[in-house]
Amino acid sequence: MNFTDSHCHLDFNEFTESSAQLTHLLNECADKKITRIIVPSVSPNNWQSVLNISEQYSNDNIKISAALGLHPWFLFDNGTELPNTVLNDLAKLCKQNVNNICAIGETGIDSIIAEKCNNLAQQLEFFNFQLRLANTLNKPVIIHHRKSHHHIIPLLKSIKLNKQGVIHAFSGSYQEAKQYLDLGFKLGVGGTITYPRAKKTIETIKKIPLSSIVLETDAPSMPLNGYQGQHNSPLRVVDVFEALCSIRKEDKIELSVSIESNIKRLFSEN
Ligand SMILES: [Zn+2]
Repeated sequence: MNFTDSHCHLDFNEFTESSAQLTHLLNECADKKITRIIVPSVSPNNWQSVLNISEQYSNDNIKISAALGLHPWFLFDNGTELPNTVLNDLAKLCKQNVNNICAIGETGIDSIIAEKCNNLAQQLEFFNFQLRLANTLNKPVIIHHRKSHHHIIPLLKSIKLNKQGVIHAFSGSYQEAKQYLDLGFKLGVGGTITYPRAKKTIETIKKIPLSSIVLETDAPSMPLNGYQGQHNSPLRVVDVFEALCSIRKEDKIELSVSIESNIKRLFSEN
């Protein structure tokens, strides 16, 4: 069985204090058959480091894939709204690296931040731009949501995406999930399902078709149940898989083979 962590912020400080530390972690991942890690970027400040990590740390045992995007949490830099010119910077960098990125992201809408920062209009504009960019470059998108299905679903219905993408850290009802599935999206299944209190999400993940599932950790965020207080690690994608096995009816091999084929179809090489 091989595993892919479809969402890990491997370039964050928790992992990159030294190159030896990161190399050690990636060797441990490879030993556990975690053979691919997808690293979304969040702001202009980390676009280049994500590209560099993917180039420098991929080897025969583990592939590190980069995605480029603007996360709704990072639309401010030192308290100043990012200017619209960063959208053109993003488009330019994506075009230059079209063969080195596997997706656009992470992007999306966060209603809690929108309320706090009064920036829903900017979030919608940036998200819209990135969806269109994904279509231009024929890439999938990695989508962040928080209390924002009602903003995201209508947009995805209005802009028909060639390659769809992943609803990262999906949480929600089956009715919400179904709308994404009908649009051809995959749902990112992560540590949430290790918490018994996440009943609604667990019930949803139990019912959705196997062809719509990918695994993720969102490390260093979102520690799994039993690991609270520690920063999360891509190694935990195997624990997410075990939790998934305990709620699904398929056997382990069938689950892992299908999930890996979902990844391959969505994030084709390059
Ligand atoms: Zn993330």
